[in-house]
Amino acid sequence: MSARARPPSGLASRPPSSSAAASRASAFRNPLDNWLAEQCGAQGADAGNFVRALRDARARALAHCLEYAASRSAFYARALSGCDLNRITPENLQGLPFTTADDLARWEDFLCVSRGDVQRMVTLHTSGTTGSPKRLAFTEGDIARTMDFFRVGMSQLVGPEQKLAVLLPGAERPDGVADLLRQTLRPQGVEVCTPPPELLAAALSPCASGQCPSAVLHAPATVPTALPQDMVQWLADIQPHCLVAAPAQLEGLLHYFPKGGPPGLCGLLSSADRLDPVLRHVLATVWNCTVLDHYGLTETGYGGAVECAAYDGYHMRLLDMIVEIVDFCGDEPLPPGEAGEVVITTLRREAMPLIRYRTGDVANILSAPCACGSPLPRLGPVRGRLERCGSRVRVVQMPKGGGTPASGNQTGMAAPMGPHCATGDWGDWM
Ligand SMILES: [Zn+2]
Repeated sequence: MSARARPPSGLASRPPSSSAAASRASAFRNPLDNWLAEQCGAQGADAGNFVRALRDARARALAHCLEYAASRSAFYARALSGCDLNRITPENLQGLPFTTADDLARWEDFLCVSRGDVQRMVTLHTSGTTGSPKRLAFTEGDIARTMDFFRVGMSQLVGPEQKLAVLLPGAERPDGVADLLRQTLRPQGVEVCTPPPELLAAALSPCASGQCPSAVLHAPATVPTALPQDMVQWLADIQPHCLVAAPAQLEGLLHYFPKGGPPGLCGLLSSADRLDPVLRHVLATVWNCTVLDHYGLTETGYGGAVECAAYDGYHMRLLDMIVEIVDFCGDEPLPPGEAGEVVITTLRREAMPLIRYRTGDVANILSAPCACGSPLPRLGPVRGRLERCGSRVRVVQMPKGGGTPASGNQTGMAAPMGPHCATGDWGDWM
């Protein structure tokens, strides 16, 4: 094993410990704001101070990330040569090249650490136009930061002496999502339960073949809604306070629990696929529980952004990534409110930083303060997936029932598409 890689940011190399975070007074109502304030050193409860400290910390982290990637990654050494990195800010990344899913097929070119420093390697077969699998590597530090995000995000749903049942596949794999949740929440006094592997294998065959949960996001049609009766019995036996599950699994459970949720259930976290607004409404009302949705990709280190109880957008890991919304028929960043392609720049990734990575997801940024009191921008709900074929682009995977995408209590939604898509094929845009 070689020495650990220098962390790619001017911030602490590891997330603050839970005890340190707990000892800090909660200045803001949203736990994710308190988490970010802790990391960027913001003092007090003044929102202006918090926003400024966060902005400065992100600028430092971005400058470090760019230097780190350009000096350690063969891909970015080439891609960033000739770029004036001193002019780049988190608010304006124009001038930097984009990274695509196809690029990740040459994953070795992205690696910034020795292979001995790679703690987890994930292979995805479902994205990109070349058909070549893309691979993503993570260090121990990368995984630790994801776990810290999980800890804070899940604190909205589950606490000490409560049970969390994770139905997402991967419980048996070290550092899979379920395993990370277990490692994260067990020290918090949360009992994390996972179904016997054979129940998940019966319900989610694509993931049983070794794909990670985020791969499901890119191939939702392969996820059946049926769940075995034994899974229902398992839930009745353990009586979890909270569930983490994919929308298809929740839809399947709804058939078994049509008039009330599983006994004892108080909260749900939906992940690994887009949560249909109607399904969310039905689950929240029929099961009488809090239903939060999570947005994350393998490329974001699994964790990306999570809703709060105000259901007013997804609070992002703003010290771990920059989210741009870009015209997907061109390269222009779009202003808040306008829907376009979600483009991710990681800020503190050690193994494989990604700079302006085009996710293929369609969403927008909500810039008005959240109803929870957070002053920070949030990601709006994913409204579709992009499919590219040469110069043609189209959007697929729209909300069930058509009409206005992401209707309901989401705010700040622009019209389905603006003038940025003149070359697109919008036959599937309902
Ligand atoms: Zn909020």
